[in-house]
Amino acid sequence: MPRYADFYRQSIDDRDAFWSEQSRLIEWQTPPRQICDYSNPPFAQWFVGGRTNLCHNALDRHLARRARQPALVAISTETGTERSYSFAELHAEVQHMAAVLRCLGVKKGDRVLIYLPMIAEAVFAMLACVRIGALHSVVFGGFASGSLAARIEDAEPVLVVSADAGSRAGKVVPYKPLLDAAIAQSKHKPAAVLMVDRGLAEMPLQPGRDHEWALLREQQLGAVVPCEWVESTHPSYTLYTSGTTGRPKGVQRDTGGYTVALAASMKHIFSVADDGAAPAGVFFTTSDIGWVVGHGYIIYGPLIAGMTTILYEGLPMRPDAGVWWSIVEKYRVTHMFSAPTALRVLKKHDPQWFGKYSVKSLKALWLAGEPLDAPTAQWISDALQVPVIDNYWQTETGWPILTLANGVEPQVSRFGSPGKAMYGYQIKLIDDTSGQELTSPGHKGVIAIEGPLPPGCMQTLWRDDARFVDTYWKSLAGRLIYNTFDWGLRDADGYHFILGRTDDVINVAGHRLGTREIEECIAAHPQIAEVAVVGVADALKGQQAMAFAVARDSAALDSDAARLKLEGEVMKQVDSQLGAVARPSRVHFVSALPKTRSGKLLRRTLQAIAEHRDPGDLSTMEDPAALQQVRELAGR
Ligand code: ATP
Ligand code: MG
Repeated sequence: MPRYADFYRQSIDDRDAFWSEQSRLIEWQTPPRQICDYSNPPFAQWFVGGRTNLCHNALDRHLARRARQPALVAISTETGTERSYSFAELHAEVQHMAAVLRCLGVKKGDRVLIYLPMIAEAVFAMLACVRIGALHSVVFGGFASGSLAARIEDAEPVLVVSADAGSRAGKVVPYKPLLDAAIAQSKHKPAAVLMVDRGLAEMPLQPGRDHEWALLREQQLGAVVPCEWVESTHPSYTLYTSGTTGRPKGVQRDTGGYTVALAASMKHIFSVADDGAAPAGVFFTTSDIGWVVGHGYIIYGPLIAGMTTILYEGLPMRPDAGVWWSIVEKYRVTHMFSAPTALRVLKKHDPQWFGKYSVKSLKALWLAGEPLDAPTAQWISDALQVPVIDNYWQTETGWPILTLANGVEPQVSRFGSPGKAMYGYQIKLIDDTSGQELTSPGHKGVIAIEGPLPPGCMQTLWRDDARFVDTYWKSLAGRLIYNTFDWGLRDADGYHFILGRTDDVINVAGHRLGTREIEECIAAHPQIAEVAVVGVADALKGQQAMAFAVARDSAALDSDAARLKLEGEVMKQVDSQLGAVARPSRVHFVSALPKTRSGKLLRRTLQAIAEHRDPGDLSTMEDPAALQQVRELAGR
């Protein structure tokens, strides 16, 4: 086994040879003639001249040996259903869907907007799109009609695929009225709408425009729709970023680079050994298909690796906080991927649930999306007794930037750090005042990546090359570097620490502090389940930190005295660990923090309310009611 340091070096110093080797992990109809064309920076073209298909690599190529192995298990604790599809069955369903898409006029290069809950049909639709060379644009099911309208206008889909309803905590959320309102609001009108009827809500069809999936599927039973071989650089999909820092950006991804990057990540990062015959394992990602993690690691990555993937509709604590572990036990899940946010929710529940189910099949738990504080990492690793591996990336990159490549060389997690630079990513830390690269360890700076971005990363922003260049790229000593807008540092061993977003850096009397540092310190208090820290304008100091925290046992905070006592303890903890400059002016206790649908803390919203400003765009927010308490406490 090569040492990771050598593996990494080769990926940078001998880039084309490295990625040429990785490209052999997938099947090509025509192999690429050039590995990387970076003649027009920052636009990188990967595997130029190659022709392949994402759906072929996820399904068709496995049929010879895995036809009967389960490919997809769709579990819903909302509707109490479980459906399992073998590779052969999924292949058949995807062809039904592809035939229906074609009948509805979808052609190569067209966009299809997918507005569906976490049901198997969402997987059919995504795979069917890439099968015929159409681009999917998945929007979180149940997103407000205004946000949906904006995405319809931007993507200009010829077709929208939706369903009668989603369900959350047992409550039906009808989608059709939201969709109809969004289309009415949008300047662009899709020619057709394909509706999946789950029997949950009314679904009035508009004649001429709306069609029912079950009926059209019936007409296509047994349809054979071969994969359309597309150029490696043909876009596979567009997807919006979470919108944590402002207006979401429409990320456009290619086909060949993405397929290779996912295949390589399954091998090197998730240590999936595919000998082509034995089941490669069971992957359970507790994310949503509306988020980049859902694209890569519910659907494409595991299927490319020939694994069984689990699609879960439901909450982590319903019917009880043991539901995930019951799934792990029942399906012998080998790889699990989740988000720190969800774990912090579970942390508030009784730990007895861990002992109830056997999680022996699990090899590791990967987490991404938000900083993973060391106490939460320690807590879950003690409870599960498996390695817990953080990974840091973005919608823009499509696969991890920082983590551990345990498939190359087993390494030990350092809690609080997402790990090392992944192969292909030439990470730089930039001093945000001087604009210069920080080379010695321990200095805080902006995390940047020297171009070209490796395969799998964004090609551009959808129909907006200028915004792509202006938003992300800057020149450093004559070379173009990509800005992640995250702030961090690297230690002497190459482990990185994320200190917060560059937008969230607080400046208290000339001291620059990452909100993350203060959050990490507060989260270490045993009574705190979750915390968000923001900088609030202060006449004297420039800015002051303010904290919003969720207590593990909120019932114990039923009096002013109890709240003040805990607030005092938290402040003292910050004082002793980070110093008085970092001490928050207030610690407000709330029952929920505002988050995006992908589970990210909306610090900008908290900050706006605390500074008595308009919180601005709330369209990507999970639950606007979470702001009520914040307004009452901090908005006065
Ligand atoms: P927008 O770009 O629209 O403001 P967003 O950045 O939240 O939204 P995503 O692409 O979903 O959209 O999230 C990527 C960001 O999430 C990263 O830039 C980083 O701030 C944060 N993040 C992801 N994983 C981790 C992690 N393991 N540790 C710390 N932060 C993480
Ligand atoms: Mg971002």
